[in-house]
Amino acid sequence: SNLAASLEDTITPPVKVEQTQLLINGKFVDSASGKTFPTLDPRTGEVIAQVAEGDVEDVNRAVVAARKAFDEGPWPRMTAYERSKILFRFADLIEKHNDEIAALETWDNGKPYEQSAKIEVPMLARVFRYYAGWADKIHGMTVRGDGSHHVQTLHEPIGVAGQIIPWNFPLLMLSWKLGPALACGNTVVLKTAEQTPLSALLVGRLLHEAGLPEGVVNIVSGFGPTAGAAIASHMDIDKVAFTGSTDVGKIILELASKSNLKAVSLELGGKSPFIVCEDADVDQAVEMAHFALFFNQVTNFRQTYGQCCCAGSRTFVHERVYDEFVEKAKARAINRAVGDPFKSGIEQGPQVDSEQFEKILKYIRHGVDSGATLQAGGDRHGSKGYYIQPTVFSDVKDDMLIAKDEIFGPVQTILKFKNLDEVIARANNSRYGLAAGVFTQNLDTANRLMRALRVGSVWINCFDVFDATIPFGGYKMSGIGREKGIYSLNNYLQVKAVVTSIKNPAW
Ligand code: ADP
Repeated sequence: SNLAASLEDTITPPVKVEQTQLLINGKFVDSASGKTFPTLDPRTGEVIAQVAEGDVEDVNRAVVAARKAFDEGPWPRMTAYERSKILFRFADLIEKHNDEIAALETWDNGKPYEQSAKIEVPMLARVFRYYAGWADKIHGMTVRGDGSHHVQTLHEPIGVAGQIIPWNFPLLMLSWKLGPALACGNTVVLKTAEQTPLSALLVGRLLHEAGLPEGVVNIVSGFGPTAGAAIASHMDIDKVAFTGSTDVGKIILELASKSNLKAVSLELGGKSPFIVCEDADVDQAVEMAHFALFFNQVTNFRQTYGQCCCAGSRTFVHERVYDEFVEKAKARAINRAVGDPFKSGIEQGPQVDSEQFEKILKYIRHGVDSGATLQAGGDRHGSKGYYIQPTVFSDVKDDMLIAKDEIFGPVQTILKFKNLDEVIARANNSRYGLAAGVFTQNLDTANRLMRALRVGSVWINCFDVFDATIPFGGYKMSGIGREKGIYSLNNYLQVKAVVTSIKNPAW
């Protein structure tokens, strides 16, 4: 096909890789061991750059810098207004460097450049502006105590925050964690995912250009069991925030408890139901269920072909509209533009690496073997890089592996349902509880499902709406705590109760 042929000539990314070292105490430095690791172009599997590989000793150095910046530096001591001005300046710099950051992100991750440039980088700026706005609005309360005491609460920064992020939205994950941490006056040691270390390092440089004092944000590229585990188990880190798989989330919690009981927030896996009711607008539901519709409108991250922890990966369709839905979902999948993510009009680039690529193909084989009907796709796309055909399964049963595990790829699984009681039970029958989509024109149906679903986000007649203002997080094994919105501030604050005795209170 045309698209497969176009994969042969890979477009040269319009950006140069400049930062490859670790960012510690405001400076780009080599790792203590001198070791590096390659970060790969998912379009070809070729090396983009060698990146300094952080390990325990580098995390230690980063923590010393962050600790000093917290205990002695200007960051938690300057006025909140000063802090917010630095964050606003940083957001301006993000906008100035929009295309450069976006190109780096696409090169490293494989997602369509149009998505990086028009959605992700603008949202990065938006999230920082949102939290910059919070910086000078964080304050405690006065409390009417029982006795003759004056009681007040102080909301204080928690200290040194460790943050570990994944590869699917490297920049957004960074912003959801750095934004609130910095607004509250904390200092940070951040570990990026080993698949996508590049964009964060450029962002780190811009943070310092915006006036961030040294040591406030330290960025350690490296692997999970080494650098990541060093953060989770560090005795001098006060809080760890993690986004990634449920399995690793459990490890983080365990390392935190075995070390210093640091506070933990986790944003983990999902297997989110997407419920298309009998009265739904099928065309709209098909489009939403599958892909982004309005590219520069409200963000719809299905554009990232399933590499989304809250992907609507169990598509429940009412039996009355099931056949129509399956036909249309299949047609839409077959028409999906897969190819070099730097080409305009491309909806789907390669998966991030060979590991994800192989894992997805394995699940597709599982689906076929377990008796689901393969409606579209089912194989790799082209012959090089990590491209996968948009794949649609119908006749999926709840107990099939493809309906239970998080696939993290462009594989849609369609299940049939008869009535609301049944779909509520089936939707909730999951160890995950991250998000759900509901498609209906009926207000009662919408309200009933909205309350019955045991998930952290319910999107009604929309999906994957990710404003900075909206809290996001999981029920059950999808996580602990919320990110974004006002709720995220709690992750980065301590509450101190101050009680003063009053001798002769007037009242
Ligand atoms: P994904 O499936 O998205 O790759 P992971 O949970 O494997 O999710 O990885 C998410 C982040 O967690 C990455 O930054 C990775 O390096 C890190 N990580 C993986 N294993 C560990 C570990 N044992 N301890 C700490 N961090 C880890």
